[in-house]
Amino acid sequence: MTATLIDGKAFAANLRTRIATEVAGLKDQGIVPGLAVVLVGEDPASQVYVRSKGRMTREVGMNSYEHKLPADTPQDALLALIDQLNEDPAVNGILVQLPLPKHMDEALVINAIDPAKDVDGFNVLNVGLLATGQKAMVPCTPLGCLMMLRDHLGSLSGKRAVIIGRSNIVGKPMAQLLLRDSATVTIAHSRTDNLPELCRQADILVAAVGHPRMVQGDWIKPGATVIDVGINRTDDGLVGDVDFDAAKEIAGAITPVPGGVGPMTIACLLANTLTATARVYGLPDPE
Ligand code: NDP
Repeated sequence: MTATLIDGKAFAANLRTRIATEVAGLKDQGIVPGLAVVLVGEDPASQVYVRSKGRMTREVGMNSYEHKLPADTPQDALLALIDQLNEDPAVNGILVQLPLPKHMDEALVINAIDPAKDVDGFNVLNVGLLATGQKAMVPCTPLGCLMMLRDHLGSLSGKRAVIIGRSNIVGKPMAQLLLRDSATVTIAHSRTDNLPELCRQADILVAAVGHPRMVQGDWIKPGATVIDVGINRTDDGLVGDVDFDAAKEIAGAITPVPGGVGPMTIACLLANTLTATARVYGLPDPE
């Protein structure tokens, strides 16, 4: 193996320790950050995510409020709960676990969350703030990727970045964050021509596709930094969107799956909850 392994698990543990210290400092001032997580239905993967979010929220000393609603909950009942959480001063962050059941309008529900409590950063106001370079709540997965990239590379200015995937939760906000750091950004997707050739130009390659091991070793520029966002369940267990065994011989640095981007996502959710709390009380944003 020639590539440096970017250890997201260790990075996330470190970030959570720093958050726990900040939370303890707030407690001395009588402030306890609170995160409300709303789960509608019984999707098994979502149940696992919600459980681990709750556990890690408590571990850093925050209050966790979990709301589990049946799959056939009317949309109005969910909107009423969001209103109640928006008004509740003990709740600083609200996360509605996606995907929602088919009878619900995801955009409408997400946009009902108070933007100041929108710790997922999916509310259209936060999307606009991020796109225009203003103070926003930033989606957790790309925020975690950015932290690891900055930590590994220092300045991203002038670097050529290629992001594979244009979803609202990963690809697009990742592009905004890299642009904000003055990288030269290209977003690729399923209609992109000659994807391997495009990827070979990237100093930073972010794969957020959802196809197991799609990115081949010879798609990677020697020495590039590769961030693998993909989480794919296969017969060999969890694998990313990058062929890790081939890529690690060519890349300069790479995130593993599991143990890369995944743990950073939850740590960034806690970081966003801390930031949301600090802003309510007029305190500076935590580092
Ligand atoms: P989406 O399905 O919403 O988006 C996938 C994107 O990949 C689309 O833009 C699609 O293009 C593009 N794509 C699909 N096939 C190809 C192809 N053959 N070549 C190029 N581009 C292609 O997925 P998400 O963004 O939600 O998630 C992506 C992956 O990241 C998944 O594996 C998911 O599980 C994982 N994930 C991991 C997280 C973590 O915490 N580590 C958090 C969130 C997601 P088009 O738009 O043209 O259809």
